[in-house]
Amino acid sequence: MSNEEEVQNNYNKENPKNNQKKGNNEKVKKTLIALIVILVIAIVAGIIFGIFKKQNDEDKKVDYTQLITDIDEGKVGKIEMTVGSTSISVTYKDENGNIPDEKDKEKTEELTKNSNIPNMEVFMELLQNEEIEGNHIEFKQNPKNVLLSIGSGVIAFLPTLIMIALVVVLFQMQGLGDKGKIYDPSVSVDKISFNDVAGLKEEKAEMIEIVDFLKEPKKYSKMGARVPKGVLLCGKPGTGKTLIAKAIAGEANVPFISMSGSEFIEMFAGLGASRVRKLFEKAQKLSPCIVFIDEIDAIGSRRTSNSGADTENNQTLNQLLVEMDGFETDGGVIVIAATNRPEMLDEALLRPGRFDRTITIGLPDITDREEILKIHSRNKKISDEVDLKSIAEDTAGFSGAELENILNEAAILAARKQHKEIENDDIEEAVKKVTVGLEKKDKVISEKDKKLTAYHEAGHAVVSRYLETQDNVKEVSIIPRGFAGGYTMYKTNEDKFYISKTEMEEKLISLLGGRAGEKIALNDISTGASNDLEVAMKVARDMITVYGMSEKIGPMSINLDKDPYQMQLLGNNLEDEIGKEVKGLLEKAYESAQDLLRIHRDKLDKVAGMLLEKEKINEEEFKAIFEE
Ligand code: ADP
Ligand code: ZN
Repeated sequence: MSNEEEVQNNYNKENPKNNQKKGNNEKVKKTLIALIVILVIAIVAGIIFGIFKKQNDEDKKVDYTQLITDIDEGKVGKIEMTVGSTSISVTYKDENGNIPDEKDKEKTEELTKNSNIPNMEVFMELLQNEEIEGNHIEFKQNPKNVLLSIGSGVIAFLPTLIMIALVVVLFQMQGLGDKGKIYDPSVSVDKISFNDVAGLKEEKAEMIEIVDFLKEPKKYSKMGARVPKGVLLCGKPGTGKTLIAKAIAGEANVPFISMSGSEFIEMFAGLGASRVRKLFEKAQKLSPCIVFIDEIDAIGSRRTSNSGADTENNQTLNQLLVEMDGFETDGGVIVIAATNRPEMLDEALLRPGRFDRTITIGLPDITDREEILKIHSRNKKISDEVDLKSIAEDTAGFSGAELENILNEAAILAARKQHKEIENDDIEEAVKKVTVGLEKKDKVISEKDKKLTAYHEAGHAVVSRYLETQDNVKEVSIIPRGFAGGYTMYKTNEDKFYISKTEMEEKLISLLGGRAGEKIALNDISTGASNDLEVAMKVARDMITVYGMSEKIGPMSINLDKDPYQMQLLGNNLEDEIGKEVKGLLEKAYESAQDLLRIHRDKLDKVAGMLLEKEKINEEEFKAIFEE
């Protein structure tokens, strides 16, 4: 019920601890060589079939906007998807409004199309909404594993399938199955240049040198100049790290090979290192070029003991170090890596001759946000009344990717509402959709739940109103959105560089205001505050361990995950102490929130009452309550 969003990162992927040894591989290889010949034929046939199927698929694509319109108009009968894939299969209703019988293969095929879903979560919500509105769409979800989902009818072929799988694995072990994706600006239609990257002026200026080097590596090496082999881009997801790396390739007109750190470690032991080797072999052939490694922390985190999964990681990382030391800079290969957690990286990676240059990319400030919005509205129909500057004002803390997403969602909303152009309210709605999820106007809610939500949100809003450092309330609503039963939106009016201790304490009070509202007015508490508590817990913990704001613990930065020796240094009951301090902060904030609401009980009742009556209160209406 707060509008905070935790960015989930999935870096912590575990890699399977598969203990295949090299000697084993040899044996497997020999026994399978005879089979390979037969199976290669099968595979080739499969590939040819695949190509045909793919071509067919291309013909049968519906774009997302069209799909939404069709769903809205009730033309779609069935949707089938596979877990983990963004591509879905859509079966349209026939001329009589019926879903074609599955036995009628020809008809089913004719009415089935494919579509790519940019944001699956939003899409699922949309389907739910349609269901509520009485537009029933059959929905089928297939498990991730293709081999298993083929079904029991092929059990007879299972041994063959297993052998095929083994051969594929064998190929990949030899590195033939490496997955480096190549983007070649000299043949690509949508070439990316620095013009497509908003803001980041200093960063771009630094990159120009690299562009020049890639264009004429000899010029630099003749001078004896040492050009960086590797550049590390640090920053939150969606801040444009990939974009800027691609723009360098575009400016220099050289190929761009990309791979994600997690791809190196995902399958079998020994594979990671060989993939690194293959990647660099490919790069040498394509040079001058850029090698881009996303999520480098997945392979480049500190080398640890020799246990299980770690050993695999270490091998991959060692291989990367060997490759980077091995190639000559005048070969014209530059490695650009991106990470959100530079502190996790093994120091060896940052030594001269490796990633010796680090560029930190922050979240865009207000001018940059406006520029990003401008860039992404170039190819969209936007009404003249839309003021990108005011959207930039309202979106402090948003990343470039989120801003792009907002404009995209706004375009979809505008299409659904059959507007001629994207209008201001489409964008406002999109901002809310991206931050708190879709509005579920038709969901039936019991009076009791409504009252609870009203007091919860009123609690947040009233408490914030009396806290000096907290942002002004922009909108309070008890219409459910996404997973939240209601929400309070604040007006962020400045980009802050530093946050004071008082401000963080008041933030905690404001976060706990929701629960305090329930407690004071209804003398009961609910599960509705779980997200608030989660955010509050993180703020409180950071105050003590990251920003050293606790009197008792002192001005210290503590990270026991990163450096377990801190415990030895600072005493074993450090964790207990931290726990006590976090608890103290949260309890104090909860008390303050309740005190504030007891004093201003009349306002709490007024806001909650108005919410029950109107479901949504805007900025002016909210202010008016306090001016009486
Ligand atoms: P990262 O690699 O940091 O996670 P990306 O480069 O993949 O982020 O950014 C995702 C998308 O967000 C980009 O494709 C682009 O459309 C948009 N974007 C992010 N930053 C910018 C920016 N500075 N200027 C223009 N678009 C941006
Ligand atoms: Zn809340």
